[in-house]
Amino acid sequence: MVWQYILLQTLIALLPIGAMLLWLTKPERLRHIPVAIVAASGVSLLLGMLSRYPLHSESIINFRLIPYIIGSLYGGIPGASLLTVLYMVSRLLQVSTTFSIALLGLFFLLIVPYLFTRIQRFQAADRAGRLRIGFCGFLATSIPFVVAAIHDANTGDSGFWYWMYIVIFGLGSAAIILFSIQTLELSIDRIKLQVELQEVSSNYRKEVKRLQEFIDISPLVAIFIDGQGRITQLNEMALKLLSPYDRSGVLHRPYWSVLNMFGSETLFDSITKVMKGAERESEVVRFRNRLFYTAVCAWRDEAKQETGAVLIAHDMTELQQLKDEVDKMERLSLVGQMAASITHEIRNPMAVIRGFIQLLNERSPNEHHSYFHIILQELDRANNIINDFLSLAQNRIVEKNTRKLNEVLEDLMPLISADANMRGQMIELRIEEDIQPLELNVKEIKQLILNLARNGMEAMTDKGILRIELKNIEDGVQLKVRDTGIGIPPEKLERLFEPFFTTKTNGTGLGLALCLSIVERHHGKIQVESKTGEGTTFIVSFNKYKAGQLTAGA
Ligand code: ADP
Ligand code: MG
Repeated sequence: MVWQYILLQTLIALLPIGAMLLWLTKPERLRHIPVAIVAASGVSLLLGMLSRYPLHSESIINFRLIPYIIGSLYGGIPGASLLTVLYMVSRLLQVSTTFSIALLGLFFLLIVPYLFTRIQRFQAADRAGRLRIGFCGFLATSIPFVVAAIHDANTGDSGFWYWMYIVIFGLGSAAIILFSIQTLELSIDRIKLQVELQEVSSNYRKEVKRLQEFIDISPLVAIFIDGQGRITQLNEMALKLLSPYDRSGVLHRPYWSVLNMFGSETLFDSITKVMKGAERESEVVRFRNRLFYTAVCAWRDEAKQETGAVLIAHDMTELQQLKDEVDKMERLSLVGQMAASITHEIRNPMAVIRGFIQLLNERSPNEHHSYFHIILQELDRANNIINDFLSLAQNRIVEKNTRKLNEVLEDLMPLISADANMRGQMIELRIEEDIQPLELNVKEIKQLILNLARNGMEAMTDKGILRIELKNIEDGVQLKVRDTGIGIPPEKLERLFEPFFTTKTNGTGLGLALCLSIVERHHGKIQVESKTGEGTTFIVSFNKYKAGQLTAGA
């Protein structure tokens, strides 16, 4: 009978921890441990009290302390208060003697407050700390039981078995408390570990994905080769390079068979050297008509203890083209500078020739004057060409002043009108009021307008009308020179601004090239609209914000 009772009590005492083990399966339940354990302990406490087996007096053999201590420590102050009330009510219903009332007083006035002071420390402690606090709690709460046992032994009959049961109950209680705490802590740790593992593995997956994305969006070709020489991974750029093969057509194939398809021996050699132990091989390689800077690096797989290779390639085709272009420009610029200094030197002897021709002209008979006139005219033309060429070729810094374009244009009008009159053409001026001032180099702007106007006049017959317009636009001023001439066919439109491009027998082809460089020096834009047979419009837009600086012209 006693042993059955002890077994029943043990089962009841193990109820909270058993319930917790069954229930604590998901990480989100960790937060609800206090509530669950208080509930399970409450049930166990009541069951323990109901199944009493009076050994001597009513207070001795009972495991009710176990759920009370476990529930109070894990349940926190609110849980502990609830269990204390439960404990007190059920105990008050049971006590009968004044002695047991006195013991109950001792329990609730001294021992329970002590237990309460341990709760916070318990919650903050690690597993060993919790076991220690649990054991101390057990020792403190056993004091009234020990007192009651001694009291009972003195009043009644207390043989060997009496003390035996008391020792069994004491040791059993301590063991069950320690076992419960240890088991619960282990399963809490397990759940926490599970959460951590999930976090770590999801982070790891995220990192791997990010790395793959990074490798894919990288402008470099990247191909990974394992110790057996098989391609294990490659990025988007590599796929582009190896098209029309897709990922599945290349993955897990040996690198030599893939490279064979494209016949690249140099790359093959580099990879083979690295696979045989070289640290790094870099090379400039021509592959499928493009130029690549390639680096093959050794890559060690610590787990498999083998050496693979990573092939990284940078497409340098455009870069190389740019470099070639710059080289060409440099050579051209050198030639240009030489030409500029030579033409400059030609001007001096020409000036001397011109002076002497004039002298000869004055001293020769009248019938020769027309010849001298032609010589002088041609000399002036040559001089003009040299001037245009020099202003195009020289890199120089132009000085700018704040001026209004309409004033510059008005200064020029007599010259342009005289030219038009000679050709029998009309000039139309449309100047908006209040043209905004700009930073201008007046000499250059005059040359620009003159060149555009002259081109327009040269493109028209004697009934043509040349219209020059000036107006304010949003961030500057716009100049339009429109003629009703022959127009420009589309294929010539692209070459218009090239130096020496001309369709005229006497033309130099430098006029528009000069216009372009002047407009660029003023940070403006020049556009052409033209229809063959109807006419051409040159539109120059000056930006008032950009034109402020003193700049080196091209
Ligand atoms: P040039 O006037 O000495 O020929 P330009 O650089 O001023 O050199 O002009 C280059 C060429 O552009 C001209 O030969 C001509 O064919 C064409 N062109 C320029 N302006 C006009 C225009 N307003 N109408 C038709 N063609 C033009
Ligand atoms: Mg011209």
